[in-house]
Amino acid sequence: MTSDQYAVLVDTGVGPAGGEAAEWLGTAGRLPRLLEAAGVRADEIDTVILTHVHLDHAGWNVEGDRPRFGNAEYVVQQAELDHARGSTTYRKLIAPLGSQLRAVDGRASVAGLTLLPTPGHTPGHQSVLTDQALIAGDVLVHPAQARWPELVYVYEQEPAVATTSRREVLRLAAELGVPIAAAHVSCDQR
Ligand SMILES: [Zn+2]
Repeated sequence: MTSDQYAVLVDTGVGPAGGEAAEWLGTAGRLPRLLEAAGVRADEIDTVILTHVHLDHAGWNVEGDRPRFGNAEYVVQQAELDHARGSTTYRKLIAPLGSQLRAVDGRASVAGLTLLPTPGHTPGHQSVLTDQALIAGDVLVHPAQARWPELVYVYEQEPAVATTSRREVLRLAAELGVPIAAAHVSCDQR
């Protein structure tokens, strides 16, 4: 996504073939190909916003032991870093970011966009509000949750908190008249 002056990427996806998320999902990620098709080079990305630190959302964070997006600031909620620290995902996909990692605490304005804490799926999960969409990561993982927000997802760490975040995201998107972009809900899913 390009905000006024910034090239911003929200989540880095599944990662390469042979990576843990690709093994888990049975398919490799496509982000480098999609960026190339969009005419965006990795070094042109100014900001990477991570909705949360799960393998399938941070899979292309690094290339080898270096940040893949060499000129980007990677923005994560402090609560998420506190929660993920010590995990394999943190060691492999967050620690190598070094000084490019930026923690924010709560609601924040970054690269012209608004970051909203939407905890529950993970303690520091965040969503991103643009003027075109509310990018909601894993706040919703199935369209049925738009109708029944109380439907919990098996991997939600705090289901009651996740339900509250879901209701809030649905309310806000309706109020602003913007669509919700959720990572695991595809356009052809009905
Ligand atoms: Zn997740």
